[in-house]
Amino acid sequence: MRRSRVIPVLVATVMLAAAPLAQSPADGPSKAAAPAPKDDQRTERLKNDALKDVDSMSVFTQQMIDSIFSFAELGFQEVETNRYLIDILKKNGFTVQEGIAGIPTAFMASWGSGKPVIALGSDIDCIPQASQKPGVAYHAPMIEGAPGHGEGHNSGQAVNITAVLAVKKLMEREKLSGTLKIWPGTAEELVGTKAYFVRAGFFKDVDVALFTHVGNDLAVSWGDRDGTGLVSVEFTFKGETAHAAGAPWRGRSALDAVELMNIGWNYRREHLPLDHRSHYVVTNGGDQPNVVPRTASVWYYFRHTTYAQIKDLWGIGETIAKGAAMMTNTELQPMRVLGSAWPQHFNKVVAETTWANIQKVGMPQWSDADQTLAKALQKELGNAKQEGLTLKVGGELQGPVKDNRGGGSDDIGDISWNVPTVTLRFPSNIPGLPGHNWANAISMATPIAHKGATAGAKVQAMTLIDLLVKPALVDQAWEYFRTVQTKELKYQPLIREQDQPAIELNKAVMDRYRPELKKYYYDPSRYKTYLEQLGIAYPTVKRP
Ligand SMILES: [Zn+2]
Repeated sequence: MRRSRVIPVLVATVMLAAAPLAQSPADGPSKAAAPAPKDDQRTERLKNDALKDVDSMSVFTQQMIDSIFSFAELGFQEVETNRYLIDILKKNGFTVQEGIAGIPTAFMASWGSGKPVIALGSDIDCIPQASQKPGVAYHAPMIEGAPGHGEGHNSGQAVNITAVLAVKKLMEREKLSGTLKIWPGTAEELVGTKAYFVRAGFFKDVDVALFTHVGNDLAVSWGDRDGTGLVSVEFTFKGETAHAAGAPWRGRSALDAVELMNIGWNYRREHLPLDHRSHYVVTNGGDQPNVVPRTASVWYYFRHTTYAQIKDLWGIGETIAKGAAMMTNTELQPMRVLGSAWPQHFNKVVAETTWANIQKVGMPQWSDADQTLAKALQKELGNAKQEGLTLKVGGELQGPVKDNRGGGSDDIGDISWNVPTVTLRFPSNIPGLPGHNWANAISMATPIAHKGATAGAKVQAMTLIDLLVKPALVDQAWEYFRTVQTKELKYQPLIREQDQPAIELNKAVMDRYRPELKKYYYDPSRYKTYLEQLGIAYPTVKRP
């Protein structure tokens, strides 16, 4: 057995008379945008049953988080992760469509029938060079140079699947109509897949999309979000080889074109709107110095806060690339789109529903060990404050962002412009970290991640129950989607007709590191936790 699994136990069907839900809200509801509507007795009873069931599945949740952490797979190469998730879903009665939208490591799993159709997603890929021992409050790679979960995408599927399995049992017991879907945010770090899921029609019949992403708080928001959307484009130039010393005048350097494009872009940057973001890596800089580079490539992310501005930036990039080709007498090859993301907009009705449940669940109880790890890491990173872990749920539901200064992107944006969507953030990570870094992996196979995911699963389960037993909520969500969100702005994909998922990305890196990583795959049949398997004392911190 590669792994054992705790089979979720059926909850007792005892009729609990409106027992209070979990702890009281961490923050007074007085500051909330609107007071949470009170649930009727049946809804409250179902939610109580779901909460208990999610708690009873905490070992199952922990095993998923620890297993996916140990697979440490980069975008488009989530082979073990994909197989592991599909296996769990099939064993729990889901029908799974594999390799969807031309992406080998993507799937759509379904259970149930009829309306509403609710699709739960979360990202699964990790970060280059973020290998890190969990529970150790300083840089300690498990394998030097290897990828690692330096964002925390190993935890979101555990949130969704735990919630869905709890709710599925209630649906069977209560004969509730509805279809539950689970799908992975494959290659999110490349914003590489969600626009293709949309294009292939996987969200056409979906009523509500519940997305979840790791954070350091328990939160949700609605309206236009801060951050950006983007298009990810690779520019390739073609010149001619020559002996770089014997006859350099016979050659035309594609690398010169790449360098001049970057210089051109960096001069232009001063005259671009301040809320844009752009960055590049050279993916092909030539073969060897004594051969004038015939081909060279540079890969850009063009980020901005609106679809129209993303298109503008892309156009400027193309113009500069053409200029660089002219200057070097090389040819610009057709641009290759490697990914895209719309700016995000979340649904007001679904966010309010989720927010009410967040207040009922509240933050997890952190142990002294959890806080010691968090504070030691914050100190290690030179943070001005060592505030530890977040203790309270924020005071109010976040509405539309007013002053968007730009920032990161997530291709959940594409789905959010096709069906009512929210992203639930759950507290499996530590505040004050740089992101896309080894530091962000430290908590991700520790009790911090496990408890944060259980809290997230509780919220997700309760929101599912709301959507299943109150069909009016789904209608109201669509009302907002049609009459407010998309009243003036309609979705049109950034990917072009000829674009295809860039499924070969990261293959060489994973081929190189997977044999090493395999030695450290988590074996839950032998070890209670991954920390135990690795022999790491929790927490491991530097002596003061
Ligand atoms: Zn992410």
